[in-house]
Amino acid sequence: MADRPRFGPAGGPSGFRVLKSPVFEVPRYLHDEGLDAFEYQAVRWGPKPQMKKDDAEKLGINAKQHDVWLTVHGSYFVNLCGDEETIMKSKERLLACVRAADWMDAHVVVFHPGFYGKRSPQESLELCVKAMSEVVESMRALQITKVHLGPETTGKLSQLGSLDEILTLCESVELTEPVIDWAHIHAREGGKMKTLDDFRKALDTIEKQLGTKAMKNLHCHYTLVEFTAKGEKRHHIMDEIEYGPPFEPLASLIAELGLTPVIISESPILDVDAQKMRDIVLKKMEEKSKR
Ligand SMILES: [Zn+2]
Repeated sequence: MADRPRFGPAGGPSGFRVLKSPVFEVPRYLHDEGLDAFEYQAVRWGPKPQMKKDDAEKLGINAKQHDVWLTVHGSYFVNLCGDEETIMKSKERLLACVRAADWMDAHVVVFHPGFYGKRSPQESLELCVKAMSEVVESMRALQITKVHLGPETTGKLSQLGSLDEILTLCESVELTEPVIDWAHIHAREGGKMKTLDDFRKALDTIEKQLGTKAMKNLHCHYTLVEFTAKGEKRHHIMDEIEYGPPFEPLASLIAELGLTPVIISESPILDVDAQKMRDIVLKKMEEKSKR
């Protein structure tokens, strides 16, 4: 678990990409910006790792050297509650991401569990539990026990991934931890996250189901988001405060409860807004220490 609240981007910042440096140089770039987390994007991966083992290992070594908390966003092409063939292929894709995460010594492979399709939420959930358990079996066979599977709260109503569903998955399958995408919860529930109490309630739910340690050390995604009746539509930058969910209440709770989450910025200006989130949280922590 993280030793303090940590902040970083989902993928290489645009200022890094123009340098055309190899991805394993990202940690140093982030360290220079005062950031300390990075979520590598393996979101288009197929059944095999689409990165050289050597590069993955270099990324891991550099992350440690520059004190950057490393995670992987797994393939979007995963549906653990689809038809039989889809589930089989999804497990392969997820495992490819897990293998690369193991090379990097990354903490979590984040993924969106799947789509309900014609199935009931209950049936979909059961299929996800089964498929995830099988991926964990494969991980054990490969002696991968440090990487966690991170099912994420999802932003569209067609996707499995309400907070309750994610917590149930984490309760049911070992080597798993929840990934709390606050924008997704906000979008799929029609703009639910508004006040300090809304965030407190969500944290309470997590604590009740998975325990205090899990609640205090959440892996989170955050951005401001625009949504429709179907859920998430578009991400917005931190300055566009007409969108939610508001960051202040979350920052206040981090300070008040002494939480140490890892917060990955999914704002259109990834690292720039990660620094903004960091500064807001640091300010709240400072205010609290003066009280
Ligand atoms: Zn995601």
